[in-house]
Amino acid sequence: MISEKMKVFVEGSSVIRAMFEEGKRMADIYGAENVYDFSLGNPNVPAPKEVNQAVIDVINEENSVHVHGYMSNSGYEDVRKAVADSLNRRFETNFNESNIVMTVGAAGGLNVILKSILNPADEVIAFAPYFGEYRSYVGNYDGNLVVVSADTKEFQLNLEELKEKITEKTKAVIVNNPNNPSGVVYSEETIKKLAEVLNQKQSELGTSIYLISDEPYRELVYDGVEVPYLTKYYNNTVVGYSYSKSLSLPGERIGYLVIPDEVTDSEQLKSAANVATRILGFVNAPSLMQRVVARCVDVEVDVEPYNKNRELLYTSLVEYGFECIKPQGAFYMFVKTPGDEKEFVAAAKKHNILIVPGSSFACPGYVRIAYCVSYDTIKNSLPGFKKLAKEFGLTE
Ligand code: PLP
Repeated sequence: MISEKMKVFVEGSSVIRAMFEEGKRMADIYGAENVYDFSLGNPNVPAPKEVNQAVIDVINEENSVHVHGYMSNSGYEDVRKAVADSLNRRFETNFNESNIVMTVGAAGGLNVILKSILNPADEVIAFAPYFGEYRSYVGNYDGNLVVVSADTKEFQLNLEELKEKITEKTKAVIVNNPNNPSGVVYSEETIKKLAEVLNQKQSELGTSIYLISDEPYRELVYDGVEVPYLTKYYNNTVVGYSYSKSLSLPGERIGYLVIPDEVTDSEQLKSAANVATRILGFVNAPSLMQRVVARCVDVEVDVEPYNKNRELLYTSLVEYGFECIKPQGAFYMFVKTPGDEKEFVAAAKKHNILIVPGSSFACPGYVRIAYCVSYDTIKNSLPGFKKLAKEFGLTE
């Protein structure tokens, strides 16, 4: 018999994953080229050639006992140093290897930090629309996820509501920038205001509120948009990064946490993250991949394939009458549904278009389109979207 807690997780299990399975089933029936699967954020751009070369070089050049062995639970010291040095070069920060914990992707990093800080019934605040797994990650440690409703005008942060929702129980606030699912980048102005609210609340309540910056899409931005580095705006910030999206390595499970010296109880928190990595059963982030990313910390990411998709999809959908904010980052488009979102998702499926309802991100009335697919998939899906616009009364 499975646990009561697990029963709840299974029942609420991700719509996105279910859709991904459905996509595979439909591809068997209709042929992969006739199914437009926009359900999962699985990058379709191959990993940069530097990554493949690094894999070969690590195998050929490094001591194989070392490469495949255990190391400190936080990761290899030289790898953490390479990560810290790269961050310092790019963001004018001042980290060293002790501030970095190598993790099993962003998901692993978020679980490590939440396990490190949460007591049962502690609250973690997220802003809708948010990555649905946050609820499970917080639930893993018996915390409660508190949701600030979406700012559906600009998809920035609803800070007035944040002020109301912060209590003595608030242990952390999570932001995800660039955002999945909206594709929006929170501006420097928004981040400054967020820091102001958090500082004010910390002194008013006499508590410590960690800001967790979940940023697997940091490098995936368009039109030269800048993504502020949050440790520079709010001292109590922990950053969770992943190479899943930037280097197209989601199956390899590699990322890191940054725990700056300035955060509350920094030394204790670093030790807790080290132990959490071990006792969550990760033990350490994948060894080979640590050694590979250390050689790739400064690799430039080519966002042009995603940008091309973004332009075609956005211009076409707007032309058909859909309402949508133009994404500035990540590879998602969040489109307002004409009518009920569930009906819209079902109608789209009839045109072999798979998209995810906004309620999976606590923002009903929208759908998420993951455009990390081939250009042809976008192009060939357009007649279906056009028909949908007509069926839902957007065009004649
Ligand atoms: N956070 C956000 C916002 C995501 O979109 C994802 C994956 O899609 C993750 C975390 C998990 O990333 P990873 O595969 O690196 O664990």
